[in-house]
Amino acid sequence: MSIESSPRQLDGCLYLVATPIGNLADITQRAIEMLAQVDVIAAEDTRHSQRLLSHLGITGRLQAYHEHNEDQLTPQLITQLQQGRQIALISDAGTPLVSDPGYRLVEQAHAHGIRVVPLPGACAAIAALSAAGLATDRFVFEGFPPAKQQARQNVLQALKYESRSLVFYVSCHRIIETLCDMRDIFGGEREATLARELTKTFETIRKATLAALCHWVESDENQRKGEIVLVIAGNREPVEEAAAIRMLEVLLAELPVKQAAALVAKLTGSNKNELYRRALQLKQDT
Ligand code: SAM
Repeated sequence: MSIESSPRQLDGCLYLVATPIGNLADITQRAIEMLAQVDVIAAEDTRHSQRLLSHLGITGRLQAYHEHNEDQLTPQLITQLQQGRQIALISDAGTPLVSDPGYRLVEQAHAHGIRVVPLPGACAAIAALSAAGLATDRFVFEGFPPAKQQARQNVLQALKYESRSLVFYVSCHRIIETLCDMRDIFGGEREATLARELTKTFETIRKATLAALCHWVESDENQRKGEIVLVIAGNREPVEEAAAIRMLEVLLAELPVKQAAALVAKLTGSNKNELYRRALQLKQDT
């Protein structure tokens, strides 16, 4: 059976080919055959991808396609596709476009009526989520949190009451500060899973509270090396309660505790004494 399901072989087609995130055996048979057969392989880092292709015994034509040249190269690739060329897009690891280049090209391919075909495979976010031991029925992929602390804290604040599991990519250089911000904003008791070096020799998957993970990463420098995904449990508080507390937080920045609690009680119908107690607690935490 042919791996190409297109009825019109002369039409150009853009293939999005997932590659391994560590273990080179994690590539599909279909990906290998496709990479061997396309006219061009657009790759984020050609030297990096050359090693994978050599390992697979493929001598494909590599074309650098990354965030610094995608504006300039996208029209050229679209022209080649219109001329009937078959192009595969790969990234350094995992699924292209997932925190990796390619969006512009795929968007333009659709705009020009060019067929886009995904060849699924490894993705660090999904691998981490599947092994995290946290709810997987609904989740939010947040990619990399901002590097600057204020911007990162703002993003985390906005996610504090999100009830779905949260998946983040985190640079090992920022793992401590990111975990500490998460502990301070989501609360030390919130459960989370750190998935490091997935599919590689030093693969480590640890589920604990954010406070415990922070302590562990601070005290063991090995946990600050390599590639990391963090999966955070969603907020368990009922939606109405979470909304009332969010309101309380906003008002507490402007009003005294008693007045803030009374106003939120009026607005939400929640118990005034309970809100007063939570307000005192929030005031103490800040
Ligand atoms: N497109 C890739 C994918 O499908 O997973 C993600 C690319 S993104 C630029 C790189 C980030 O993915 C890393 O910083 C890390 O957060 C995560 N990652 C990639 N490989 C990983 C691995 N083997 N173990 C844990 N995290 C990994």
